[in-house]
Amino acid sequence: MTKKEYLEFLDEISRMFPDAHCELLHDNPFELLIAVVLSAQCTDALVNKVTRDLFEKYKAPADYLSVPIEELESDIRSIGLYRSKAKNIQGLCHRLLEQYGGEVPKAHEDLISLPGVGRKTANVVVSNAFDTPAIAVDTHVERVAKRIGLCKTNATVLEVERKLMRFTPRERWTETHHQLIFFGRYHCKATRPNCETCPVLSLCPFGRKRLSAPKKTNRSKKKASPSHAEAT
Ligand code: SF4
Repeated sequence: MTKKEYLEFLDEISRMFPDAHCELLHDNPFELLIAVVLSAQCTDALVNKVTRDLFEKYKAPADYLSVPIEELESDIRSIGLYRSKAKNIQGLCHRLLEQYGGEVPKAHEDLISLPGVGRKTANVVVSNAFDTPAIAVDTHVERVAKRIGLCKTNATVLEVERKLMRFTPRERWTETHHQLIFFGRYHCKATRPNCETCPVLSLCPFGRKRLSAPKKTNRSKKKASPSHAEAT
């Protein structure tokens, strides 16, 4: 995909999702940091369900350290990987108090030094909490970037992030991040993407190939099935 085509794609998805935004509920940078840590391999909807009560109980880093880890685990146990997430949350709260006066640091390199905080989490926090342009690559962003042919299918997450940053005007990084997530979450879904009605189909090699592939009928499926062949 050329840069010109990519910019056409961006214009289209910003028409589709002009109000794309961070769907993790939060009132301040600290709550956002906790929510993003919890969201690894978990839906935003489930995280929001848990943080509604969690943020009532724990308002500041010291609150998370005032309870035994088992209690925190129990408070977040409906979320996947809750044991390691509870450990990381207490670890990062400890570091926030020890090194940053209980505040969430604004610098990307400080954020990624915290337990459980990787590039994606740090990018989400700096862009949403501190208005620093960034493009966080989550599963939706990665899938879309590969399907439209912006990146090769074997590109790493870091390569995808770098390509997106190179092709996207810096002032559009944060909105593009949200629009790519909305586009991947609600339109170019992992299974059954809406290629038939997709406004960027003409730009997308994956969609064109998918739609031109012969559809499998029940009959051809039966023919292909070894167990059916044996039975007949
Ligand atoms: Fe996604 Fe299909 Fe659109 Fe390509 S054509 S961007 S695969 S929905």
